[in-house]
Amino acid sequence: MDALMHTVSTWRTISSLSWLAILLVWETAAPYFTFFVGGNKARAGHGLKNMTLGILNSIFTSLAFIALWWMTSQWANSHAFGILNWLSLTGWARLIFAFLLFDAWMYWWHRFNHRIPFLWRFHRTHHSDPKMDVTTANRFHIGEIAISSVLRIPVIALIGLHLWELALYEIAMFTVVQMHHANIAFPAWLDRVLRMVIVTPFMHKVHHSRWQPETDSNYSSLFSFWDRVFRTFRLRQDPRTIHYGLEEFDQPENHTLIGLLATPVRQVQRQTGEPAPSAQVNDSH
Ligand SMILES: [Zn+2]
Repeated sequence: MDALMHTVSTWRTISSLSWLAILLVWETAAPYFTFFVGGNKARAGHGLKNMTLGILNSIFTSLAFIALWWMTSQWANSHAFGILNWLSLTGWARLIFAFLLFDAWMYWWHRFNHRIPFLWRFHRTHHSDPKMDVTTANRFHIGEIAISSVLRIPVIALIGLHLWELALYEIAMFTVVQMHHANIAFPAWLDRVLRMVIVTPFMHKVHHSRWQPETDSNYSSLFSFWDRVFRTFRLRQDPRTIHYGLEEFDQPENHTLIGLLATPVRQVQRQTGEPAPSAQVNDSH
């Protein structure tokens, strides 16, 4: 792999760890929900389990997929294959299109995870967290990561992505993903301005609601406008009234490391969660 890819990969690690540290401090100083007040041990246990899944997933993708993605990207670009090459884009225009196209794929992949029962079995590991914080951004089942990594191969080819462009996208995307999972809030006006372009904490809190009409909304990862374009955007007037998690996974045995890994094979009916709260808003700001 080339030097540029190595540089971007190093920056990806530095950026995600720095953001993690900053957001952990922020959550300690000004938590939005008081999940862990006085319970540092519970908070550490919760965070470590989520981070363990994240570390396992990144070791797995490095060993099993990065070389495949690299070969696909090399093949596509040496054969002038893929949308970015067919449009003959260069410079910033190419980079912006690369981000938009891959982020649109991420939106649909996430939506399929909610709509296709087999994929939901894996994705519910992410949604079962009743105490969402920055570490939840790493809480994905290895099965979901494996399926999305396989699907990335044709997506990389179809877009004609360079691997360094994908790594740069991942830096931007994961920065926003860590921020919108964190147990923090921006002032309402700032959240409103930011969510015109990127997914904000208020927007993503709704996605982690245990009430299914809200769980099945706000699928965007980096850019927020996909939810408006594809009509899945939704807000709760008072995000403080949101309850996270999944009713069918409330028992503590589902939240041990083994329980998290066993989530896809649990035979449980999906619950629709609490009844509709009074204040629903589909904001157009
Ligand atoms: Zn989801």
